[in-house]
Amino acid sequence: MTVADDFEALYGAAPDGVWAAPGRVNLIGEYTDFNDGFVLPLALPHTTVAAVSRRDDGVLRLHSADADGGIVQLDTDALEPLSGGGWAAYPAGVVWALREAGHPVTGADVHLASTVPTGAGLSSSAALEVVTALALNDLFGLGLSRAGLARLAQRAENAFVGVPCGVMDQMASACAEEGHALHLDTRDLSYRQVPFDLAREGLRLLVVDTRVKHALGDGAYAERRAGCEAGARALGVRTLREVSAAHLPEALGRLSDETILRYVRHVVSDNARVERTIALLDAGDTRAVGPVLTEGHASLRDDLRVSCPELDLVVEAADAAGALGARMTGGGFGGSAVVLVDTERAEAVSAAVGKAFAEAGYAAPGIFPAVPAAGARRL
Ligand code: ADP
Ligand code: MG
Repeated sequence: MTVADDFEALYGAAPDGVWAAPGRVNLIGEYTDFNDGFVLPLALPHTTVAAVSRRDDGVLRLHSADADGGIVQLDTDALEPLSGGGWAAYPAGVVWALREAGHPVTGADVHLASTVPTGAGLSSSAALEVVTALALNDLFGLGLSRAGLARLAQRAENAFVGVPCGVMDQMASACAEEGHALHLDTRDLSYRQVPFDLAREGLRLLVVDTRVKHALGDGAYAERRAGCEAGARALGVRTLREVSAAHLPEALGRLSDETILRYVRHVVSDNARVERTIALLDAGDTRAVGPVLTEGHASLRDDLRVSCPELDLVVEAADAAGALGARMTGGGFGGSAVVLVDTERAEAVSAAVGKAFAEAGYAAPGIFPAVPAAGARRL
């Protein structure tokens, strides 16, 4: 059964169309997207697929093959931010954000099915939002740009679902291209596709899903965000993006709060690591990106303090087994890490990480290669 067949079985007619949007991993640039900084994500082959039909009677029906509980039926005129609603809040939030921005979205029937692991830090939430936004953009002829759709998807997650995320995940899902990483400037959402052809260079980027999610994460994100804002205020800049790596030592000398100093050091140095990574990719020296990843991990672990024992173990075990470099990716406190390896070392490094997890008494991690895939599209 295809997603379109399932749609027809649910709603009694074929869908108007079928769309897909991918999950993502971020190669480097973490906790920079709410500081107007740089990020470098790539889309995964894992996608959320949506079969959708337009409606003009104010009825919104939502169904997911991956969630229990049958069809959720809502009234487009009565959508309330932060009203709960479990998983359905994500697509309903997109309808709300589009309508709030003045777009005449008058209802839809939606059926979803996804291969993006949820809660693994691979952005199943953004895939869900972006696929919904793109389908409605096409069906209602809204003419929004990819960046415009990503902004509205972020607004849905921030204001309707109530998750204070940055815009990286939605931009990656909406704008990525196969064989490339997306160099995104989150200050103005300008971006460039950076060629990232791992296979040609005999390399692999492994995603290691630790399968843990520590509860600490939610409050910690808001606290890091507030700390970065306090750092910008103390330095008299609008955002930490405005502090260059060259000016970092001088800036740190002006900060008296030890915690804020660490956060500032992470954000400014990670922005610089994105730029170093891009220079290496443009020069065709992808192998040399490895140590930059590992340095980024140390910064997230020691300065921002958003790692956890499982993520640190991935990085340590991969390094000991001959990986080129590794780092946690996404918000931390669990979720996934990325590991850059020579293709011929990939098996050995995967086995070493698995063995280290078993010895530590952790559940076996999920490991798969990240092949840079296409962004959201109509199928
Ligand atoms: P991540 O984005 O890292 O996967 P989040 O906690 O941000 O983790 O988002 C996961 C949530 O998104 C799920 O708990 C669920 O509510 C929703 N979600 C994602 N994919 C689907 C899907 N295919 N069907 C239903 N809900 C989904
Ligand atoms: Mg998410």
